[in-house]
Amino acid sequence: MSLALAFGGTACFLLRTELPSRSFRSMGTLATVTLGAAYADRIEPVTAQVRGIFDRLERELSTYRPDSAICLLSEKAGVAPRAISDDTYRVLSLGQHFGDLSGGAFDITVAPLVRLWGFGKTSAPPDLPSEETIREQLKLVDYRRLVLKDGTAFLPRKGMAVDLGGIAKGYAVDRAFDYCRSAGIKDFLIDLSGNIRVSGRPQGGEDWQIGVRDPFDRSRLIGKVTLPSGMALATSGSYERFVEIGGQRYSHIIDPRTGYPVTGTAGVTILCGDATTADGLSTSFFVVGLKGTARLLQKTPGAEVLILPDKYPREIWLTPSFAKTFVPIPELSSKARSGCAGVADFAGLFCVLPS
Ligand code: AMP
Ligand code: MG
Repeated sequence: MSLALAFGGTACFLLRTELPSRSFRSMGTLATVTLGAAYADRIEPVTAQVRGIFDRLERELSTYRPDSAICLLSEKAGVAPRAISDDTYRVLSLGQHFGDLSGGAFDITVAPLVRLWGFGKTSAPPDLPSEETIREQLKLVDYRRLVLKDGTAFLPRKGMAVDLGGIAKGYAVDRAFDYCRSAGIKDFLIDLSGNIRVSGRPQGGEDWQIGVRDPFDRSRLIGKVTLPSGMALATSGSYERFVEIGGQRYSHIIDPRTGYPVTGTAGVTILCGDATTADGLSTSFFVVGLKGTARLLQKTPGAEVLILPDKYPREIWLTPSFAKTFVPIPELSSKARSGCAGVADFAGLFCVLPS
């Protein structure tokens, strides 16, 4: 049986045989629901329910819809608190949690900087923003100032704004996961643009297998990962979205400590017990980069990390447990084996050197 790429995104489910599967657009991206072979007759209603969950969360959490709860909250910045739903409240407080965990590398109030660099609804500036403009916008970025109280949220300063792009999809996948389990589906995979969570098995004794894309060449994989039941995987990549200013590429993930797009990281994949954490941490590790990985790992037990620095020759760094489940493409593994200089140890991480 040959392996085939089932669908797009930053990671993809590797399909061995036909399984009931449906794709649709929601939350500004591609979503796919795949069920175990035994549930073929339930694919339509289950997909409709998952789509309903994603569409509802998009209406609340999107920065692209002027009428979303998040945009209305940002509009009221410096004026008054806004009543928000339980889901929005939970995502905002989880966002603050990942802000604390990452020492501010993850910051859901990064929106003014995201806009400044030409992401979101704005287009790329013709020239690099000046130091002074960046400093001004930085004053508006601090997730700790967001006040969550009694079902309301308040941004205390005019110009502050929230961007949940680093966590909302993972949260949505977890809600879809909960729904599927509660509906009695044991074997399924939910994928929202590479934010993936699985349950059970696709068929027989096999676990779900996910391909991890090469951040330098999206048409190929760097390897595959086996996902045990209940586990989640998320990837953040600089190749996903970028702007070009003065012939230079700038990534859509901004370092809230400097105000500049992150450099030095090409891709991060997180493997852990839920999709919200995988999503929040993939963005967080992307910002702290390889240098900050060992430190952040101490605070995130249970999270396995694969990180590709943006450098040549290319390297793939993995935590030991990730290394156990990750099967690099033959080209990479053979070189790593032959070199075994190819396998180095850095702050508890293993390194696979492809060249
Ligand atoms: P992801 O693909 O999950 O890594 O999320 C990237 C998205 O998160 C970006 O497109 C922004 O909307 C948002 N974002 C950018 N920088 C940060 C940051 N430092 N902390 C939190 N969210 C961010
Ligand atoms: Mg993320």
